[in-house]
Amino acid sequence: MRAVCWHGENDLRVDTVPRPALVNPKDAVLRVRASTACGSDLHVIDGLIPTMREGDVLGHEFVGEVVETGEAVEETETGQRVVVPSFIGCGACSYCHDDLWSLCDNTNPNAAMQEPVLGDSTAGVYGYTHAFGGYAGSHAEYIRVPHADVNCFEVPDELDDEQALFASDAWPTGYMGADFCDIEDGDTVAVWGCGGVGLMAQESAALMGAEQVIGIDRFPERLEAAREHAGAETIDYTAVDSVVDRLDALTGGRGPDACIDAVGMEAHGTGLAHRYDRAKQEFGLHTDRGEALRQAIRAVRKGGTLSVLGVYGLMDKFPVGVLMNKGITVETAQQHGQRYVPQLLDHVVEGEMDPSYLATHEFSLEDGPTAYRMFKEKEDGMIRPVFKP
Ligand SMILES: [Zn+2]
Ligand SMILES: [Zn+2]
Repeated sequence: MRAVCWHGENDLRVDTVPRPALVNPKDAVLRVRASTACGSDLHVIDGLIPTMREGDVLGHEFVGEVVETGEAVEETETGQRVVVPSFIGCGACSYCHDDLWSLCDNTNPNAAMQEPVLGDSTAGVYGYTHAFGGYAGSHAEYIRVPHADVNCFEVPDELDDEQALFASDAWPTGYMGADFCDIEDGDTVAVWGCGGVGLMAQESAALMGAEQVIGIDRFPERLEAAREHAGAETIDYTAVDSVVDRLDALTGGRGPDACIDAVGMEAHGTGLAHRYDRAKQEFGLHTDRGEALRQAIRAVRKGGTLSVLGVYGLMDKFPVGVLMNKGITVETAQQHGQRYVPQLLDHVVEGEMDPSYLATHEFSLEDGPTAYRMFKEKEDGMIRPVFKP
């Protein structure tokens, strides 16, 4: 089968690779119907997140049709169209029982590779380095899904693939980020980043009752999407002297009740601290450029909530004194998709939210390298490219 494969830093190729087969009795094999690129793939492609190996298949957000199931699979059936969360749960460990699916203790066979940097391991993820389990990704004609009964969610017939696709990762990540904020009527929520996850966080915050949503980015078409789809006010951070001052001005000097970081380790910024971060990152001295996160910590009101969705490894100059003295509650996690997918699909069926507008461009697998180059440069107003294998 054909697949989009990693061959080294910024070297993607489309290869012919073996079709995945059932490995364990609880597995299913899916024919991929739609698979989308994620901003977090860019950290892997450019080598910021290590332990990719030559020939690894990328991609972790997908909808597929079940074509094969193992003998211990009870509920998932061949012919079903399903959406699958990017973090793989086992359904049996204490974390899965507590609905903390990205913390699953059983699905990352390479946990020891993560522990020196991240302390304890996350769950495994499709197409996302050997430290995250070494599972083959979804930018391929077929994919193996372990523990199929807890990871496959049937897509209602009335939804098309694009309406369900983002329930795999971008939407539950954003939705979880808003859920973390315990939004009350009248609250203001500011979101750094207006890509797929940031837009989903903004729309979800509005759906949960936020009175004022503020989206921060620098790309005009993304800021426009935030205004149009989430009813957000927007800040182009390249057009203001200080994002924190601007947020103060929009909130009567208090700051937002909750701030959501949907940017992560490759944050762009304009100030001196950002140039320092960038230089250190290029010399391999630490992994993360933390401008968005530092702004969010400074901006949030006293006693407010900081919700961190951006992906981080190690960072210095972390303003822990601000965090502590302002009494900020920090909530963060890789996404616990299995907790949210059924209610997200219900929101689409009920007409309350429809994330399909994120799918701005469609490609075949053969266009994989071109699609990622355009995605990285945000060419042609691209929010998310979607592969139709
Ligand atoms: Zn993702
Ligand atoms: Zn588990």
